[in-house]
Amino acid sequence: MKILRSEVIKYAKMLNSRKLSALRSGNISARFQDGFLITPSGTKYSSLKNKDIVFVSFKGKFDEKKGIPSSEWRFHQDIYLSKKEAKAIVHAHSNYATAISTHGKGIPAFHYMIAMAGGNDIKCAKYATYGTRELSKNILKALRQRNACLIGNHGQIAFSENLSKAFELAEEVENLSNQYIKALKIGKPKILSSKEMSKVLSKAKNYKRG
Ligand code: 13P
Ligand code: ZN
Repeated sequence: MKILRSEVIKYAKMLNSRKLSALRSGNISARFQDGFLITPSGTKYSSLKNKDIVFVSFKGKFDEKKGIPSSEWRFHQDIYLSKKEAKAIVHAHSNYATAISTHGKGIPAFHYMIAMAGGNDIKCAKYATYGTRELSKNILKALRQRNACLIGNHGQIAFSENLSKAFELAEEVENLSNQYIKALKIGKPKILSSKEMSKVLSKAKNYKRG
């Protein structure tokens, strides 16, 4: 548990250092036993200590005396409960993904790397107030058969089998968002067909990353 708490802190600090989420925005969690360990609400990542990382059970219980979990603990909980393969979640207000999310639009297959999010597009969850059940419901919908999505007027989420992979996927979503915005500046990019994306998706399943 101590190691996992330190890992959560390591990646929370990387939200700032890798410019994926400025100041106190975003949050990070890792599945642990019958719940998950999550960053505390509204805390500067640079000041985080192991004891600040909060355990939330899958029943939504936490000990307030030990700290207040991220205001977004509901969507972290719902993702873990609905996706067995989710072991770690990264939520970021990264610049380019957030810029696209303010249009309430996802990202189509303008580049084959879109497949990294699990399908032939990255969907955008409908806006709802942060921390609400409604937001969590909208996010689950956008994550159907996907492991990343944008969140309307808010940011992005990525999950994976560990913190390193979830963080890398969030970085990939941000990179694709940057490229998509640039592509739109010079006109309408060509979108890859679903047939081509199916080929990419089956190749990507066997694509080993070091
Ligand atoms: P927390 O500090 O409560 O995690 O809030 C940050 C955030 O990104 C809310 O969506
Ligand atoms: Zn947020």
